[in-house]
Amino acid sequence: MAALASVTALTLAVSTSAGSGRPTPSPTSAGAGPISLARSAALAPCMINGHPSVQMSEGVPTPGGYTRSTGTVRALTLMIDFSDAPGRGSARNRFREFFPQTQAWFRTASYGRLDYHPATPIPGWLRMPKPFKEYGIDRGAPFDPGYRELVQDIVAAADPVVDFRAYDLLNVLVTPNAGPSALDTVLSVTFAGNPEAPVADGVPVSNASFVYSRQDDGSGSYDKTGYRVLPHENGHVFGLPDLYTQEGGGAVGHWDIMSEDWGANNDLLGWHKWKLGWLDADQINCAAAPGTTEYTLTPLSRAGGPKLVFVPLDRRTGYAVELRTRGGNDEAVCRPGILIYKVDADVDTGMGPITVHDSQRGSGGCTRSPNVHAELSDAPFVPGETFKDPKRGIRISVTAADLEGDYRVRVTRR
Ligand SMILES: [Zn+2]
Repeated sequence: MAALASVTALTLAVSTSAGSGRPTPSPTSAGAGPISLARSAALAPCMINGHPSVQMSEGVPTPGGYTRSTGTVRALTLMIDFSDAPGRGSARNRFREFFPQTQAWFRTASYGRLDYHPATPIPGWLRMPKPFKEYGIDRGAPFDPGYRELVQDIVAAADPVVDFRAYDLLNVLVTPNAGPSALDTVLSVTFAGNPEAPVADGVPVSNASFVYSRQDDGSGSYDKTGYRVLPHENGHVFGLPDLYTQEGGGAVGHWDIMSEDWGANNDLLGWHKWKLGWLDADQINCAAAPGTTEYTLTPLSRAGGPKLVFVPLDRRTGYAVELRTRGGNDEAVCRPGILIYKVDADVDTGMGPITVHDSQRGSGGCTRSPNVHAELSDAPFVPGETFKDPKRGIRISVTAADLEGDYRVRVTRR
């Protein structure tokens, strides 16, 4: 009956070797890098895509203009302050709130394929020419007048020392005393893939992450978890959309840092790892054909082995299936098992492009970890449980877990 599908057919002439972590020979401006997403003929039906009007889509491949997400990525990191919010303590200490944890987070999440190099050619506070309040910064549209001015002032202040062509993205770590507390308003924001950006040294500063305040919930974990806003913001420069919505993190919970970046460490969804070029073609199975097929999945936190089964529904949507366990960046998993979620490439950032299916709906969840969405914490399916979408004629059953911790899933589609 069930045949073990291993789809390694006909890898197209697309290199995935950019994931080897070797340095790129020449400086790359933001967005100029190749998209090294794993693809093969067998994966083609799973390469869903959104309508071009979608600003930031879950579709694969990610369109051009974003920062390359494999190989060596150079992150120009500037610490800025203002006359009405002078930096307290050293700028180096502000930098150390985010590094080396951010580097380590990307190394772990990418299985070593993203080699993140933060650079601080200006080690002290870079003073802006105007007081903070005169820029009128609030969480707003990319490069609205205040932001455009701020970026232009950053470029002008840094330009004598910095060659912007030598970097792939820009991190601006704002002195924490500028603006409101992150407990009241999170101002941190990223402008990604924006060709209208101000130009420095002939290249647009089109992929820039701004971090304000401190994401300190007072639980005493800031030293361990406060950096996580930066990998979230940098996720945008690599083309990933926000998975939380106006209602909060109820669509995806703590299963992806683009959904929740406060609290315990978490990983990215397998879908995002494919999108970013961190999985090979033979680690992804595209369940496009009718019938029943059985697959093995290895924990997403462990390098190597099959990671993702995708069940396409049409050219824009599908179900993703992956195994989540405690390990790697995933430290809050309280019910290991098979996570099933719907991806809709036609839904824009912040509008709920991904929805996790809760195997234990209404249970209240299995975690008490602060800032971890509780209800979805026990969402994974365990052996003996089945996800059903009768309208589409799809069943996904978890059939077994073996001693190595790998799981078997059976996908049936009409
Ligand atoms: Zn975001």
